[in-house]
This record gives sequence, C-alpha cells and structure tokens, in this order.
Amino acid sequence: MRKITTMAAALLATSVMTAPAFADGHLKITDEPVEFTVHLHNKRYQYDESWPVEQAARELTGVHLKAATFGTNTPSSAEAHNLMLASGDIPHIVGGDKIKNMVNEYGPQGAFVPLNDLIDEHAPNLKAFFEKYPEKKAAVSSFDGNLYYIPYLPDGKYGRAYWMRRDWLDTLGLDAPTNVDELYEVLTAFRNDDPNGNGIKDEVPYFARQWPELLRLVTLWDGRSSGSDTYHDFHVADGKIQHGYAGEGYKEGIKNIAKWYAEGLIDAEVFTRGSSAREYLLSENLGGMTHDWFASTSGYNISLKDKVPGFDFEVIAPPASISGKQIAEHRRIPVKPDGWAISHTNPDPVTTIKYFDFYFTEEGRELANFGVEGVSYERNDAGEPIFTDEFKAKGPINSSLYQLGSQVQRGYFQDFNYEIQWTNPSALKGIELYDAGDYLIDQFLGVAFNEEEQGVYDKNWSSIQTYMLEKQQAWVLGSADIEADWDDYLATLDKMGYNDVLAAMQSAYDRQYGTN
Ligand code: CA
Repeated sequence: MRKITTMAAALLATSVMTAPAFADGHLKITDEPVEFTVHLHNKRYQYDESWPVEQAARELTGVHLKAATFGTNTPSSAEAHNLMLASGDIPHIVGGDKIKNMVNEYGPQGAFVPLNDLIDEHAPNLKAFFEKYPEKKAAVSSFDGNLYYIPYLPDGKYGRAYWMRRDWLDTLGLDAPTNVDELYEVLTAFRNDDPNGNGIKDEVPYFARQWPELLRLVTLWDGRSSGSDTYHDFHVADGKIQHGYAGEGYKEGIKNIAKWYAEGLIDAEVFTRGSSAREYLLSENLGGMTHDWFASTSGYNISLKDKVPGFDFEVIAPPASISGKQIAEHRRIPVKPDGWAISHTNPDPVTTIKYFDFYFTEEGRELANFGVEGVSYERNDAGEPIFTDEFKAKGPINSSLYQLGSQVQRGYFQDFNYEIQWTNPSALKGIELYDAGDYLIDQFLGVAFNEEEQGVYDKNWSSIQTYMLEKQQAWVLGSADIEADWDDYLATLDKMGYNDVLAAMQSAYDRQYGTN
C-alpha cells in the first residue's frame, strides 16, 4: 500500500508540473479527507484503490473511495449484486455493470437515495448535463420520476455497418449496390461468378457472426428487427410502442430472406456458425458481406493483408429499401444501464453527489476517459490529450485504460476522441460515409415499469418472444411459409398476451417520456 501511494505521488508530481490546474485546489470538495466504501463490479475489473485515476481524483477532490466490491471471484455482476443485497451490508456507493434495473426497483423501496434534488442543489455540472440532454435523464429515471443512478454515457454514434468485399466487386466489374435490387444482383454474382478465383463455387455471399444480424436485412423491405442495441427489442414509431416481428414490412422481409437463403445467398449455417464466422469466412477468403462493428471489422484489412492478397473490406452505405429508405438500424446506445448510485447506508449523500459531479467537470471527464497525463497521454499543442506511442504499444487500449481506472463503469460521459485516436482508417472512412448520409434513426431507450406493468410483462413476454423466434427460424429455413402462416401467427400472438404487453409498455413509456 505504501509503495502504491508513493508511486501515485510521483505520478501526480509529474502532473502538477505539466498541468497547473491540478494544483490550485478548485476541485476540492472537502478540506478534511473523506472516505466512502464502493462496490463496482465488472467481469474484467473491480474498483481498485491503486488505480492512478482514483489516486488523482482523491488528490483533486479530497474524497477517497475504499474498495468494498462483492463477488470479486465471480465474472457475473448480477451474481455480485445478489451477494451484496443478501448481505444486508450495502456499500456507500454501488456501481458497475448493469445496475439500472436493481436501483430502479429497490431505490423507490428505500435502498438507494433519489438523486434529483441532490443534483439540483449540489451538482452544477450534472444539472447542466441533464438540462442539455433531458431524454437521457428520462431514459434512466425510475417509474417514480426519480433518478437513482448516474449512468455511463457512451459517446460516438456508430456501431455496426454493412461491409462488403470491394476487391470482389472489382474482380467482377460491379459497383457497390445502392438498393435492395442491386444488392440481390451483387450477392447472386458473388454466389455464381467465383470472385475468390479458385474455380470452386464456395463463396458465402452474406454471413453474420451474430445470427440476428441476418434480420437487419428486413429493413430493406421496410421492416424492423430491433429498436435498440439489444436484439429483438421493441421500437417506437410516432410515439407508439411497436414490435418489429408483428409488422407488415417484417413479413415481406422474412419472405425475401427465405428466398435468398434458399438460393444460397445467405450462409447456410447462419444460425449455428457462431462468433467465429467472421474470422473464419474472411480469413479463408469465402465471405462476401456482413453487418458488423466499425472498429473491430476494419482490423481485418490489416490482419489479412498478407494472408488474402488484395483483401479489401469496405463499408457500404445502407442499400435503399423497396420504398427508397436508407437506414442504419443499429447504433451505439446513448445511455447504459451501468454507472453508480448512492445507497441508503451512505452517511453523506451531499459530498457523494459532489464527487459524482466531479467526473462531469472537464478535468474529471478527462481522467475518466484518458487516464492520467504523463502515464497514458501527453497534450498536443492545442492542449488535447493524445495517447503516447508507448501506451498504445502496450496492447488493446481499452484493457490498458481499465488498469488505470479509466473507461470503467462509473457514472461519466465518454469522449469519442479517446477512440478516434486508435480507430483504423477504413472504419473512419465508413463513419464519414454514414455521417454524410445521416442514416441513423432514433433509439428506444427502454422503460421503467411500475409493479402492475412489470407483472404483465413478466407473465407474457418471454413465451411470446420464444414463439416469435421459433416461427422466424422456420420461415427462413423454409420449413414453414410466412404468407400461409401470417394471420394465424398474429392471432396466436394476441392470444398469448402480445397486445397486453404492448399496452403495459405504452403506459410506462408515456409516463417516462411524457408522450401524453
Ligand atoms: Ca470460388
């Protein structure tokens, strides 16, 4: 412990020299050092007092968080939460992975402190943030209208994109498809015309390492597969909660996906190939197109450069649907169910909310995003934090940052500049393309149920979704016919309580987002 403190002091001494703001005390919350206990669990890390970010925050604010995380031996944060709640000894601050449902359920019962008044009176930076982004506040509030945790708020809008083999298009003398009909022609050519040049009809035109990415294609027939970054989720259209799998465009989309599947345009093993699909089909020069993350997919342009001569995987704009709409259905969610909350055991919520507020100051946000100056980054001439080459060479940047206590799931607002610095050029080019086209659509950010609504949802939804997915797979694989089944399908959904679930969701949604 002594050794750690000395090391941190040395780090801070460096910072003081390069960043005078650290020394002037304007971020001090308390003259006498104050300690709070904290539970912050993630499968990859838990709160660590030796994190340089914690040490710097302690120096700047006077507040010190003592690690008191439950379940340090389990990778499951849900299990850690259960251990903590069962112990009856909840630490002063509770944070980490997926705390939203827990704090929104137990907060109104008294286990967590409501934050609205504390923010108004003692947290000017948080107050300004939520005034600027009222929809983010609404999205994390509980059914009683109170906020029970400060969320981790991702920055950067883009998640997944359509990727296509540019070198295959060039080999076959084709342009990137701009609409659903051209896409059909391109995938058919990938299937029939031997773009990988081995003389064998072995190409897999469209593949997905997460099979629900196959369902994105229903958007090409004006259907929807999800309204959020969770698969099979509800979405909102004109203020009304709906589910894609009961929509007319979905019916048309699945009918055509089934046709494409039967014609060999879609990976025959799409439902079973699993997470290695991308790695395998790209490195074996077999896969032609997918829908996957910008940053990680762009990496294959570097890692396969020697193995697959000419390999060029390129982001294409979403092809226009049958009605001419171009949409990117997936995007990064703007608020996460992760963050931190104040428990009922906390002796000083006012000081604690001031500490939470610190991470929404410029200095605190930099610590949360970039780590500590002189350790992970230096400043450029414009004063912006830039990761050092030495730090980048240590391996995956996120893992290195976790070890400093940066980019961990406390309540903070991410700064996408942290990621831009190490994102591959082919992904950045794709992001520019998606930016220029303005393809993103609004996300459904979830609802907080009251007890009655929760009951309706819990009673019905799981079996409804299972039924939807069973039918969906049978239709795609061709063992059932969606046109013939459709009316019965809708009637069965109704019998299973589908419309009751929609009504419960709608009532929660109207309360939460003020759509009256
Ligand atoms: Ca071939």
